[in-house]
Amino acid sequence: MKGALHQYLKQQKALYGNELYLSNKPAPLSEPKPEKKDLLANGKLDAYNQSICTCLECPLGKTRTNFVFGVGDPNADLFLVGEAPGEQEDLKGEPFVGRAGKMLDKVLYAIDRKRGDGVYIANVIKCRPPNNRDPLPSEVKKCEPYLIEQISQIQPKLIVALGRVAGKTLLKMDVPLKEMRDKTHDYNGTPLRVTFHPAALLRNSNFKKPAWIDFQWIRDYLQNV
Ligand code: SF4
Repeated sequence: MKGALHQYLKQQKALYGNELYLSNKPAPLSEPKPEKKDLLANGKLDAYNQSICTCLECPLGKTRTNFVFGVGDPNADLFLVGEAPGEQEDLKGEPFVGRAGKMLDKVLYAIDRKRGDGVYIANVIKCRPPNNRDPLPSEVKKCEPYLIEQISQIQPKLIVALGRVAGKTLLKMDVPLKEMRDKTHDYNGTPLRVTFHPAALLRNSNFKKPAWIDFQWIRDYLQNV
């Protein structure tokens, strides 16, 4: 009963906000997860970043401010994928910053996770498309191999595409988000789910409940896989 109440309060705080929790105190997390690969993984990912960060394989390389490789735990079992860097990400060189990033952090907290601890975050393409337009197929073709290599190095148990564009780009199917959600797909041998982009949760609070259902599934899957 106590555990259920704690989980409920945590969910409410993460999804709807709660002054009670808005302190600077670091969020308590559950037991640290066991290491599944050796620590050299981090150095290997960094070396890979260094080897591709000057890429000019497509025209976006000339207009970017920063190459946005990805961030997180090199031993992550959960790999989150967005479509492409936006304005803030381009400026800071990190995926999912700004308001959408904070929303993502809240949802992760609700499932006992945080970026950098069991979670890795990247985008399908590494440079910002002008005016945040959707990535072009030609850009995806050039850039997706970098994501595939990141996934191959990290070997997550689950990939989660954040938003319709990320989902359709990875799955090569141009269908509405509702047709991709609530199904386990395959991405080069790794299970993949599709859910809402955190920015969509900020735009429309009606998406929070179905998003929470998705993230509960993700939490339970990772606990049991
Ligand atoms: S978007 Fe990808 S392929 Fe294009 S320049 Fe940037 S890193 Fe290279």
